[in-house]
Amino acid sequence: MAAAGRLRRRLLLVVPWRWGCSPRRWGTGGPAAGQVRVAFLRFFQERHGHRRLPSAPVRPRGDPRLLFVNAGMNQFKPIFLGTVHPRSELAQYKRVVNSQKCVRAGGKHNDLEDVGRDTYHHTFFEMLGNWSFGDYFKEEACSMAWELLTEVYEIPRDRLYVTYFGGDSSLGLNADEECRDIWLCLGVPASHVLPFPLKDNFWEMGDTGPCGPCTEIHYDHVGGGRNAAALVNQGSPDVVEIWNLVFMQYSREVEGNLIPLPQHHVDTGMGLERLVTVLQNKHSNYDTDLFTPILDAIHKGCGGPRYQGLVGEADIGAVNMAYRVVADHVRTLCVCITDGIYPGLSGAELVLRRILRRAVRFCSEVLHAPPGLLASLVPTVVDVLGDAYPELRKNTDQIADIINENEAAFLSSLERGRRIIERTVQQMEPSMDFPAEVAWSLYGNLGFPLDLIDLMLEEKGIRLDSAAFDELALEDAKRKAHGLQARQLEGENVYLDVHSLAQLHSNNVPVTDDSPKYAYTLGQHGQYEFSPCQATILMLYRDQSLQEEVGAGQHCGVILDRTNFYAEQGGQASDRGYLMRLGQQDTLFPVESVHLCGGYVIHEVTAVETLRAGDQVQLFVDEAQRLACMINHTATHLLSFALRHILGDNTEQQGSHVTAERLRFDFNTKGPVTMEHLQQVEQVVQEVIKRNEVVHMAEVPLTLARRVQGLRTVDEEYPDPVRIVSLGVPVESVLIHDSEAAMHTSVELCCGTHLLQTGAVEDLAIISERQLAKGISRVIAVTGGQAKQAREVGQYLAMEVDSLSIRLKQGSTSIPEVQNLSREVGQLTKVVASTAMPQWQRKELQTILKALQRTANTAIKKLEMQQAAEKAQSLLAKHCNQPVIIDTVPADSPSILMKVVNHLCDKSPGTSVLLLSPQASGEVLCACQVSKNCLPMFSAADWATAVCTQMEGKAGGSCVVAKGSGNAKGMQGALTTALAFAQSKL
Ligand code: ATP
Ligand code: MG
Repeated sequence: MAAAGRLRRRLLLVVPWRWGCSPRRWGTGGPAAGQVRVAFLRFFQERHGHRRLPSAPVRPRGDPRLLFVNAGMNQFKPIFLGTVHPRSELAQYKRVVNSQKCVRAGGKHNDLEDVGRDTYHHTFFEMLGNWSFGDYFKEEACSMAWELLTEVYEIPRDRLYVTYFGGDSSLGLNADEECRDIWLCLGVPASHVLPFPLKDNFWEMGDTGPCGPCTEIHYDHVGGGRNAAALVNQGSPDVVEIWNLVFMQYSREVEGNLIPLPQHHVDTGMGLERLVTVLQNKHSNYDTDLFTPILDAIHKGCGGPRYQGLVGEADIGAVNMAYRVVADHVRTLCVCITDGIYPGLSGAELVLRRILRRAVRFCSEVLHAPPGLLASLVPTVVDVLGDAYPELRKNTDQIADIINENEAAFLSSLERGRRIIERTVQQMEPSMDFPAEVAWSLYGNLGFPLDLIDLMLEEKGIRLDSAAFDELALEDAKRKAHGLQARQLEGENVYLDVHSLAQLHSNNVPVTDDSPKYAYTLGQHGQYEFSPCQATILMLYRDQSLQEEVGAGQHCGVILDRTNFYAEQGGQASDRGYLMRLGQQDTLFPVESVHLCGGYVIHEVTAVETLRAGDQVQLFVDEAQRLACMINHTATHLLSFALRHILGDNTEQQGSHVTAERLRFDFNTKGPVTMEHLQQVEQVVQEVIKRNEVVHMAEVPLTLARRVQGLRTVDEEYPDPVRIVSLGVPVESVLIHDSEAAMHTSVELCCGTHLLQTGAVEDLAIISERQLAKGISRVIAVTGGQAKQAREVGQYLAMEVDSLSIRLKQGSTSIPEVQNLSREVGQLTKVVASTAMPQWQRKELQTILKALQRTANTAIKKLEMQQAAEKAQSLLAKHCNQPVIIDTVPADSPSILMKVVNHLCDKSPGTSVLLLSPQASGEVLCACQVSKNCLPMFSAADWATAVCTQMEGKAGGSCVVAKGSGNAKGMQGALTTALAFAQSKL
């Protein structure tokens, strides 16, 4: 309690500190959110010497394991991990304060499900935090927090409860009594200081790395003299956590044990929204000035009833929930789009797309708002948050445009989805669960967020058959993983056999007109617009035979008179999407893949209901997937051109494959492909992207096409007429006799669907390059946001490698420390090998890491030798000129122990030596060496075996040197045995 006594004395000296806007001037409504935020920052900056840092963007820079920045500490992770570059600015920080934009909507921290249902979890929120990096610790952290809450913000003390870590016997951790005592000393009554187990009060960054106990501060919204201790950490909306103070004092090792960290850190986080709720004397975050302007704007935009703050069953029709969801989600959208996360198809972007769709759905279905409401809220959000985060003001129009575009796309499918659900429900038996296949197609084909489907069903009092749904999801994942293999298994419905083909011909069924697949244009704002397509079913195919009708639930091939679906060919993956029967907008037939067979395009379809030849259908291609393929296909042509440009004209394409996720390109070339080549290739590609060249496409007779000079063709059969794709130069120009135009740009025979201009590729990064065979290389590349991300990850890892190298060069003299660094080199080597990043950079980092590994190994060996020499020296002095030395000695590893033994024998060649070294784990290491003079009578292996058997262990070696280990319990007996054995041999 001595520390606590000091603290009490210090607190008595504290002169109450006042922030600029004294609480006395607040009036009844309490301080505005902006004042609360500023007071926090100033309190730590001015009163406690913290450096104020801006919020990091919510898009994590270079951390591929994170979807969104979800806590203030994210940007300081390298400091906690000890991997910070010692010369970087970050490494200079001792005390820091900031207000961090956080998103918890995916990955480890995901509060999306709670948003709207409760009143204190958001997808986007602001985290106020203060940090100590190896500076102050528990005592100061708690007292600063207490001072701020009770003296600056003047929160009544009796409403606050604090928790501390109650210990964990399985980890051998005691309760954090130090923390408990600090709170007691600060005057918190014992009934408000509560222990909680590991799950609540021990914070870990990941499976390994820094961790430690934490202490949380909770607020009782009800008060009135009651004791609310029993409600803390129970998920009650009345007693809510507002602040978490983490004390980073251990490191969790790979083996699962905890070792104390050399430096102690403090990492705290307090949700601004929850704090403002307390200070404005409200019960719900949505009743504070961070949300009321947005709720008002929603009301204005949709008419209808006002927001009343109702929750749960009282909230009839979920109108209040809709208000909360929309207000929350539009904030998240504004912040994410500003920081470069756009609604998209994978990772964080997919999460954002779901958030947007969830918001749109609540706007239209529950609030009955006209389209455009969501985007109309953007200026209000910017008003509320723009002072704290000025970056929001830069592109307000762009945020609104992106929201509107995505809304329009979703609204059309929403309408369809609603009808599908309605019709399915009508056909269901009352006690049935909602069929998983229908939910799957809503999710997969119409892009419905899962929780949205749940919600729509919940409103109808129906549950989804989630077990079956999970199974479908698993199957889909497997199918994607196996790609071709899986498709081949299903091939019976997709590839027509010879008999069926002959039958189609003899029945005069015309081959499919698939020209509508090229029917797309660039819209006014540069977005791609795909024309709709209507068709008639000519024939169905199932169980290797042509059929006029296929029953509900069956998998079949569908042959149409025309289609806008791209069938897998020329290395471009097929389109996905769905069909609908004309006039029946409530049934959706998913199209899983599309193949070309003898001129017929076979759509692989699940017939949710009976399908018949003659049915009229409307075709919907998954436009996002198609666009991603178009980007990657055009990028493949750029890559092919750039490779030729850099590696020489005899570089020939051997094969390529394009999917929505990546592109693969095989080519043969003379000589090795160096990393400089890859960098140069990327540069050439980027230049063409920047020029935003027009992609010219036209069909020409094959004979004419073959005359084009320098034409890049692959050894494939081409149809006649054939399509020419030419970058920047009109097809007519490359066809002119003797024109050399095709020598200087990319001109290929290609039936793929391409971009109309190269700019949309945005960026290309080669993330892998390897030799398939002598002279044949395969590269894998990604484009757009993925390429950008790969580059950021590369830079981030380069920094980590740089930091590691500096720390290694500092030349530690502690063996465990150097061993830790060596382990870090190993871990980083694995990450560098397995993460998507530019290949040239990967190679560069791998070379450095290899050298670092050598440095570390040499350093360890050298330190071990030094230590061994010192230990041997003192043993030699102790046992001066004895024929046998038997002793115990501290040594960190068997190899050090052996080195001590070797060293002793070198210095004193007539002496035989056996040393034992007890370890913290309870194990005893043994090493021995027998003097040449004593051979062959005296065998080292026998000696060690006799000694280790005594300790219930084992040993082995030669007659000169041997080693082994055993149990500490038998150590005294082992020493006696060692001596008796030696004496019997001498
Ligand atoms: P809870 O148990 O309430 O979800 P948490 O334990 O996940 O909180 P921490 O990770 O400790 O919270 O984050 C620190 C602080 O950030 C919390 O005390 C709270 O004030 C705030 N906070 C956390 N998640 C949210 C959220 N989704 N919305 C608003 N504030 C949040
Ligand atoms: Mg949480």
